[in-house]
Amino acid sequence: MSEVIIGVDLGGTNVKTAVVSRDKKILAKDSRPTRAEEGPDAVMDVMEAAVRDVMRQAGVETSQVIAVGFGAPGPMNWQTGVVYSPPNLPGWKNVPLADAMRDRLGMPCYVDNDANVACYGEYWMGAGQGTESMAVFTLGTGVGGGMIIFGRLLRGIDGTAAELGHMTVQRDGRRCGCGARGCLEAYASVTGMVRTAVEGLEAGKESALRDMCGGDLAKLTGKMISDAARAGDAFAKYVFEETATWLGLGIATIVNIQNPEMVVLCGGMIAAGEMLFDPVRRVVRENAFEVPAKRCRIVPAGLGEDSGVLGCAGCALARHEEQSA
Ligand SMILES: [Zn+2]
Repeated sequence: MSEVIIGVDLGGTNVKTAVVSRDKKILAKDSRPTRAEEGPDAVMDVMEAAVRDVMRQAGVETSQVIAVGFGAPGPMNWQTGVVYSPPNLPGWKNVPLADAMRDRLGMPCYVDNDANVACYGEYWMGAGQGTESMAVFTLGTGVGGGMIIFGRLLRGIDGTAAELGHMTVQRDGRRCGCGARGCLEAYASVTGMVRTAVEGLEAGKESALRDMCGGDLAKLTGKMISDAARAGDAFAKYVFEETATWLGLGIATIVNIQNPEMVVLCGGMIAAGEMLFDPVRRVVRENAFEVPAKRCRIVPAGLGEDSGVLGCAGCALARHEEQSA
């Protein structure tokens, strides 16, 4: 009887679930709406049903499941599995997610933050397979981060380490969602890129972007900017280059501090391909020390949208093995 691990990626919009074998084969997958607006109990109902459905799909029994790993938005305590109060999960306040799901499912349950599981997914099954030292930047509404050192997630004493999006890159810079100023996230996230574009357009820059958003700058999206840049719009190209430069500065700092074998970029923005990666690699070469800059490969995610859910499974397996060792 073969053993499996189950990953559950709890997002504000969708719950993604996967059954993975010990030798890293995906046996079943599921995605369904989170029903976040109905509060924690409804969301846990959704996750419980999803886990039972993927088990049925994969034809596995409870006794074959080594562990179930959950990836949830922070802040949280990864050791106790208590989720404090994530902004995109209304009504959640100190929810003992690991205990509650263990009671429901009767299987060992582990909870980790969503950026760390995405990082672990890329390390375990994605672009970073075979490395021992790597970092992941997830580019979305914010900039998520994770770091693997000696084959393990860098946790920090309070479990808050590797918040790569919140390294300060500009004194007295833009206000960040975390309350501080000048964080990388305020410049290199999709939201930051849109903000760079809006600031330029408000200052009178000419660009096809004005027509693309119907004259309403509040409707401008990251995709419009990359589409316009790809079509040759000079201002959109500048915005992309600017965003990539901020990101490159952040990565150069990590390259100097960590000396990683690889930096993996995740999120919708990586679809821009060389338009993003070329300037990022150039800025890292120009700003990091030569030896670690040469060593470090900067690559797109290998698992696409699945880094999180597969990382949930991988992380739970690693934690379960550590605990039983
Ligand atoms: Zn911040």
